[in-house]
Amino acid sequence: MRVTGYKSQGIGAAAALVNAVTSAEGTDTDDALRGVLADHGFFVADFTADTAARLRPWARMLRSVFEAETLDRAVDLLNGLLADVPMHPHLADHDELGLHLHYAPPQVELAHRFRATTLMNLSELVCDHGVDRIGVCAASGCDRVYADDSRGGRRRFCSDACANRTNVAAYRARHRDR
Ligand SMILES: [Zn+2]
Repeated sequence: MRVTGYKSQGIGAAAALVNAVTSAEGTDTDDALRGVLADHGFFVADFTADTAARLRPWARMLRSVFEAETLDRAVDLLNGLLADVPMHPHLADHDELGLHLHYAPPQVELAHRFRATTLMNLSELVCDHGVDRIGVCAASGCDRVYADDSRGGRRRFCSDACANRTNVAAYRARHRDR
């Protein structure tokens, strides 16, 4: 379910940043992080090494939200972050989305716009669905996180590759038993 394009943008961006910075196979060079933001619709013209330096600790904080196993834990973490990240809501009408809310105005620095957007979008997802839509990949040996804004909401893996690998392993295990 793409509730709004903007909402989905921040959710996917949050998971992608967490995976780039904190997962074993992630790449968190300045260029890689610039790519994560560009891939999720952020305007990256003012991306600098300082932006990347501000995004890395943010990724580590967001990871704890994805790892929260109870709703109470996720709410505590999100409320702590919401108290720390100043919000300056701003109405924007810059593309096909129609009039929509940004959580920081365009003139504030990019890392802050990213923090405000990802935090509000994750908070909205948890308000709508609890912690069922966020988590760590269920595939063995994978430490990447996922966020699920699909209609069905049954996602448990970071990627199709992990889902397929797990299904093949389960199939082989069943056939070994015969
Ligand atoms: Zn995975």
